[in-house]
Amino acid sequence: MPRTKKPLTKSQLGKKLDEAWSLAVKIRAGYKCEVCGKMDTLNSHHIVGRRNRMVRWDLRNGVCVCVKHHKFGIESFHEDPLWAKEWLEDKRWEDYAYLYMAKNQIKKWTLEDMEEQLAKLKKIIDNNLCEGYS
Ligand SMILES: [Zn+2]
Repeated sequence: MPRTKKPLTKSQLGKKLDEAWSLAVKIRAGYKCEVCGKMDTLNSHHIVGRRNRMVRWDLRNGVCVCVKHHKFGIESFHEDPLWAKEWLEDKRWEDYAYLYMAKNQIKKWTLEDMEEQLAKLKKIIDNNLCEGYS
């Protein structure tokens, strides 16, 4: 694949990373709500809010959920952080432990770091989309 495009700015890369992260979170979950298994109206939720740049584009910080489990249900990531914490500890223990440790670290993303992370996410996406993607 020829790569002759002019390099992206940090803000352009950030946007691409946000999109790629969101898609990769859904792919990893098999396009199902990780809580109830529903397949429609899926969102990619940041467990630790996206202002935390250490884990903003980290798949361990993502959960694919239906709107009910994202925002609108009594048991949802936005409505009940205590329920969400229990769910995470129970279902995704390793990610919980990682996030607990990583969330207080500071990460300064260089362009190179961002390109590298984008390439990682794109790999997941490309593997999933196979020949439908060119
Ligand atoms: Zn759900």
